[in-house]
Amino acid sequence: MKPAVFLDRDGTIIEDVGYLESIHQIALYPWTIDAIRMLNRAALPVVVITNQSGVARGRLTEALVQQTHRVVDEQLAAGDARIDAYYYCPHHPEGAVAEYACACDCRKPGRGLVDRAASDLALDPSRSFVVGDRWLDIGTAHAIGGRGVLVRTGVGADQEREPREGVRPDAIVDNLAAAVSWILMHVDRA
Ligand SMILES: [Mg+2]
Ligand SMILES: [Zn+2]
Repeated sequence: MKPAVFLDRDGTIIEDVGYLESIHQIALYPWTIDAIRMLNRAALPVVVITNQSGVARGRLTEALVQQTHRVVDEQLAAGDARIDAYYYCPHHPEGAVAEYACACDCRKPGRGLVDRAASDLALDPSRSFVVGDRWLDIGTAHAIGGRGVLVRTGVGADQEREPREGVRPDAIVDNLAAAVSWILMHVDRA
């Protein structure tokens, strides 16, 4: 079983626009392609895990979430970079759409998305990393016994100013490029 890098989506690999309701709102950060290609070249699986409660709230559909991921993949492919898999949580306990309005185990900081990926791709969560711009991403890292890196993009700089009791990142860095550098220095390849 291999360590992996679990990346949050909004505010981490693409700009956080609130609910992404059109593929025209997709904007990769300028460093995203290079950063992900570095992980590819280091043979570390790259898995996106993203809360998409907009589905439960009736703001967007699962089809749009999946289309968004295809567009991101196309943009990455143009720069010879690759995301190995995407997992998203469409739920929210207070959702307006009945089939998604539930308490689930996959909404971050829960570990359900990571567990699905680990089972599908033979990954070792406890040797893995979670990168994200919210404390709940760091909470996910703690939940899987892995390491969490908070990026200051998206809402990360605001989160940094409002520390959460008991939620300590292993590193706080400016952006995904810096997170990848940190991970490549700290990954346990044994
Ligand atoms: Mg985010
Ligand atoms: Zn869920």
